[in-house]
Amino acid sequence: MTKKKNRRSLKNDLRLILRGYRVLYEVCPQNIIWITVNAIAQQFAPYFTLYLSAEIINQLIAGASLQTLLTLALVTVTGQLFLNVTLHLLSCKKEETESINFDLNELYMLKVGCRMQYKHLENPDTALLRQKIRNFSNFGGHGLSTLLWCYETLFGAIANIVFSVSLTMSLFRTMPHVTLTGFLACVNHPLSALVLLVLIGLNIAVKMFSIYQVEPKCTKLWSSFNFRFARCLKYADHNADVTVLGAIGLCIERCRQTLIDYDNECLRENFKLAAKRSFIDRTMETVTNLALYLYIGAKSYIGIFGVGNFFLYTGTVDRFLRAVSDFGSSISRLRQNNDYLIEVYRYLDLPDDMYRGTLSVEKREDNKFEIEFRNVSFRYPGSDTYALKNVSFKFRIGERLAFVGMNGSGKTTFVKLMCRLYDPTEGQILLKGIDISKYNYDEYVKLFSVVFQDYFTFAFSLGENVSAKQDYDAEKVWSCLKHVGVWNKFSKTERGLETPLGTGYQTDGVEISGGEAQKVALARALYKDAPYIILDEPTAALDPIAEAEVYAKFNEIVGDKTAIYISHRLSSCRLADKILVFHDGEIVQQGSHDRLVADTNGKYYELWNAQAQYYT
Ligand code: ADP
Repeated sequence: MTKKKNRRSLKNDLRLILRGYRVLYEVCPQNIIWITVNAIAQQFAPYFTLYLSAEIINQLIAGASLQTLLTLALVTVTGQLFLNVTLHLLSCKKEETESINFDLNELYMLKVGCRMQYKHLENPDTALLRQKIRNFSNFGGHGLSTLLWCYETLFGAIANIVFSVSLTMSLFRTMPHVTLTGFLACVNHPLSALVLLVLIGLNIAVKMFSIYQVEPKCTKLWSSFNFRFARCLKYADHNADVTVLGAIGLCIERCRQTLIDYDNECLRENFKLAAKRSFIDRTMETVTNLALYLYIGAKSYIGIFGVGNFFLYTGTVDRFLRAVSDFGSSISRLRQNNDYLIEVYRYLDLPDDMYRGTLSVEKREDNKFEIEFRNVSFRYPGSDTYALKNVSFKFRIGERLAFVGMNGSGKTTFVKLMCRLYDPTEGQILLKGIDISKYNYDEYVKLFSVVFQDYFTFAFSLGENVSAKQDYDAEKVWSCLKHVGVWNKFSKTERGLETPLGTGYQTDGVEISGGEAQKVALARALYKDAPYIILDEPTAALDPIAEAEVYAKFNEIVGDKTAIYISHRLSSCRLADKILVFHDGEIVQQGSHDRLVADTNGKYYELWNAQAQYYT
């Protein structure tokens, strides 16, 4: 990681940081705006006081009238009070936007939900990358979160630099028409300003050098100690052996020791570096301060500005140097964070090369959306073997189909291609004779209600679970629940459709059984009311009798829709109009149960006989 960092130029680092801020602004513009306004106001306040206090001293020494002095004092105090109130209001506003507690992971979820191709979603590398980002974001605050945390210091430093520089400009004024000799003449010469600026510049350079040397060393150290610390914590957290052995004390001691080791190591690194730089650093600081005080003092003595400005300039230059230091620290931290940002961008930049089509899907009441697989073959990305081989099949509207076959024979892949989660490697899938890739994807996918094998229920309300929406048609939800037979359980409860399912999101949720969850998933498929309804082994966890009940129910509720039922329990499929038998990625047989079972040489007969023992 460090090697990579060393190779990256400042320009590239800045580019990465700027991109991060653009992303942040897209995600949480309110936060960014209020932090910016707040930082400007926070930095402005001390300059206001410094400036007016200097003015009061100047006027006092110049013998101004009491009225002028009182007016100035009044302006200073009321201005200060006004600023205090403004700062308070601004920081409340800032807290308010922060109290939304924006989780930057939302960005990733949005990305996944909106436009990430299914092939990336299913890819274990993508899941690993997402996990990695969540880990370093949640546990170390790295990635986009660091950008947000650094923003206030960074922007505050920039505002500080702008204010201090604009107030200090007048320090370099000279007095052209006076005759001065010796030291005072030197100070009044324009070149002396240059010498002072060079000194300040050198001071900044030395500070930056130490920031870049010390801070990254400690951060780099922490990544190796963090690993050891996390390992000890994990032992302490999860291992039954630890409990039985009574080794918790050992784990805690190791955690503590790791932190002490880190501290010592970090200090040692710091000391080594500090020793190297301290002489130059301190000498530079002393020389700069001395030169600065002499310069300002002498100019005040000459009469170029009042004595009050002595305090103004020393104060602003001091703030300027601190701001430069803060700016350098923030940039240094942001540059180190770039190693993490690169991972975030790797995720955000996963290519979305799926063509989502433009053709509108015709709206029809009669559900006549004819779909045809024409010589379709498919290989999963990165796989050499075909999951589907030269499959051709034309759906008849309103038909009830059952897909059967051994595990891995291609049934789910067929459904995934049909829903365009993947595009065929060869051949075509057509809707009303037109390749499905030509249709607007969002409209096309509305044709399918699918309950996948690994369906899940959200820990949100029952109504949201069925409708998959926040604003739902309550009557329709109840009707779907009635159809699938889970109406009674909830109709009697006080919260009805508002009942949260499970306690994962709200502690007062209601736990439901596997069978009930499966019925809720079915109700969800009904609510969508799509012309094609597909159940891909959602009943795998149920016993054969319960599954037969579900199937009977399913048959009754699908109405005139085209339905596909996938199951490895053949008894459930007997009532289908047509059974498609999959084997090694091919449809090897199709027909009614009676016809297929009569073919004693066929795959279906073999499968049926293998399972018959369960149903007799
Ligand atoms: P079925 O639904 O009949 O059990 P699938 O359609 O799930 O079968 O799988 C068909 C073949 O495709 C199997 O060999 C399976 O291992 C493979 N397969 C399924 N999903 C993936 C995937 N995401 N990546 C690679 N191969 C896969």
